Amino acid sequence: MDINQLVRKNIQKLTPYQSARRIGGNGDVWLNANEYPVAPHFELTEQTLNRYPEPQPEKVIQRYAQYAGVQPDQLIVSRGADEAIELLMRAFCEPEKDSILYCPPTYGMYQVSAETLGIKTKTVPTKADWQLDLKRIEQHLDSVKLIYVCSPNNPTGNLIDPEDIKALLNIANNRALVVIDEAYIEFSPDSTVVSWLANYPNLVVLRTLSKAFALAGLRCGFTIANKPVIDALQKVIAPYPLATPVADIAAQALSKDGINAMKLHVINLNKQKEKFANSLAQLSVVEKVYPSSSNYLCVKFQDNKDVFNILWNKGIILRDQSKSIGENNMIRITIGTQAECEAVLSALKAIK
Ligand code: PMP
Repeated sequence: MDINQLVRKNIQKLTPYQSARRIGGNGDVWLNANEYPVAPHFELTEQTLNRYPEPQPEKVIQRYAQYAGVQPDQLIVSRGADEAIELLMRAFCEPEKDSILYCPPTYGMYQVSAETLGIKTKTVPTKADWQLDLKRIEQHLDSVKLIYVCSPNNPTGNLIDPEDIKALLNIANNRALVVIDEAYIEFSPDSTVVSWLANYPNLVVLRTLSKAFALAGLRCGFTIANKPVIDALQKVIAPYPLATPVADIAAQALSKDGINAMKLHVINLNKQKEKFANSLAQLSVVEKVYPSSSNYLCVKFQDNKDVFNILWNKGIILRDQSKSIGENNMIRITIGTQAECEAVLSALKAIK
């Protein structure tokens, strides 16, 4: 029996998510998934693992609400922001009928989740400066229920102009939710749009502990929105999305000490980023280092050099974004430790 024949048609043509990890390779330098380069340390407190966890762990919700400056009923916690991206589609889009809209180059999971669920996609590429093309977005809003905007944007690193986000919220009003993916916002904290929730019922903000909180392995993300949106998401989320040890560590990460540690990460990483960007810009193989409001740099290398593969063969794993950005030799480099950044610089200096 050919089991593949039983698989839904739209799933047959998909390929599994390209994992941040790769098997083998001692001493590899992993700068391909925008993780924080140093692991924080937590001890698990006493666990009652014979019982199911709280569906929405109260301590985590209370602490994140306080940290984000919202009410607890404006929050839902999920298995990473990735799960939140999909929950929104499950709650708001009719398969085969409704669409989501996003603006490439941007984060790949908006498309993947929509394809998995049989939800149509509309794409309106950003302008040459990687800002929103509002006029074209407005022309494509028919049947759109969700508009995903990533700020700071992955993979380009730029913030989206707040005035454009406001204009988009107004254009979409009564038609679609505008989802601002703030996975990297802690690296540019003044640019969050969370405080706009009071004025915009159609605003949704996504957050995660995977980046500045250095907890990508925990799988813990948040959706912040007004209560009617959160109520809809509560109806579609899995019964116990956060395992008991995950909720325990998330609560510790969101304690006063945990938040202070995160803020220290951000200060150190932003300093490291500035130094690394300046050093990269001086190399002969580098054509341009784009300004970044995030924990990675988008770098354009000389077209005649196969930088990605040369570094890969030396065990330095970067992310080739040429295809998604639509330009050759565009590589995204996560800011690592000082030693990791130096390893990248010396490997690049050796390219003739
Ligand atoms: N949004 C963006 C823009 C991301 O880059 C990522 C992680 N790569 C996510 C969401 C997903 O984050 P999480 O680890 O919380 O699922």
